[in-house]
Amino acid sequence: MAFPQTRMRRLRATAGLRGLVRETDVRAGQFVLPLFVTETDPGEGASGRAGREPIATMPGVDRLSLTALVAEAQEAAALGISAVMLFGLPAEKDEQGSGAWDAEGVVQLATRAIKQAVPELLVITDVCLCEYTSHGHCGVLREDSSVDNDATLELIAQTAVSHARAGADIVAPSDMMDGRVGAIREELDGEGFTDTPILAYSAKFASAFYGPFREAADSTPAFGDRRSYQMDPANGREAVREALLDVQEGADMVMVKPALAYGDLISAVKRATHLPVAAYNVSGEYAMVKAAAAAGYLDERATVLEILTSLRRAGADTIITYHAKDAAQWLQ
Ligand SMILES: [Zn+2]
Repeated sequence: MAFPQTRMRRLRATAGLRGLVRETDVRAGQFVLPLFVTETDPGEGASGRAGREPIATMPGVDRLSLTALVAEAQEAAALGISAVMLFGLPAEKDEQGSGAWDAEGVVQLATRAIKQAVPELLVITDVCLCEYTSHGHCGVLREDSSVDNDATLELIAQTAVSHARAGADIVAPSDMMDGRVGAIREELDGEGFTDTPILAYSAKFASAFYGPFREAADSTPAFGDRRSYQMDPANGREAVREALLDVQEGADMVMVKPALAYGDLISAVKRATHLPVAAYNVSGEYAMVKAAAAAGYLDERATVLEILTSLRRAGADTIITYHAKDAAQWLQ
């Protein structure tokens, strides 16, 4: 039956009717808040708040000392946010990125501190070398400066184990080396961490939307770019293939990153894998909204909630987002 018997507006007439037939919900329990923890305490600096150094390209996001990090984690937990995702800024870097698997490294210390202060809050650790290597690439380099996939696997797996040993609830490899999920699973199991899940950055694209993050994490490659390991934004079928390979290697959850321009792939990966899918609403997506809102071009609250809803509608079970605290407050 069509118009006039059928009228789509009938079920939109009141807030009650719209609520009754709403297909998608967003709640704080689905959010992961990414946090930047720095080994060198920034003092009061420009923020005037102890242990916090503002990130110019990401208004509202700070680099945090260990103490400020714990306070931030407590705040997130109180808002009903399920998890934080940790990115470490070490005091020193080297060729291999050895700070990544140091038992006393910045992320390891941060993980222990959070698990002690807020045990119910899940700690997800980003597993990669780029924040720890002097050259800023995600793996070890050959003599010709190309990234050596197979030589990197052992270091990535070692890093994941050190995070698990520090108490990480989930490890999330973001390096995009081939075979890293399998290598991590094997190493975790061998060390007795059979119950530590792997959230794989399965379809991670070489994206312009990462710009602000690179300033935040000081992880811009010293030369070249990451296009020899991160994916070409033009490729959708390849994203599904990457995700299926990660499933084969033992991933428990898969991720699509960035999120906003990749809704088609969130859906495709969800359909193909049947695994929980995380969408990473990245720094550039955050910065665009913040800049437009600051200029008075957009209503920040309405825009953010619409974006988060659209990611859920596309198929994301979990959303990693810098808007997590604001959104959790708005949803209360
Ligand atoms: Zn990396």
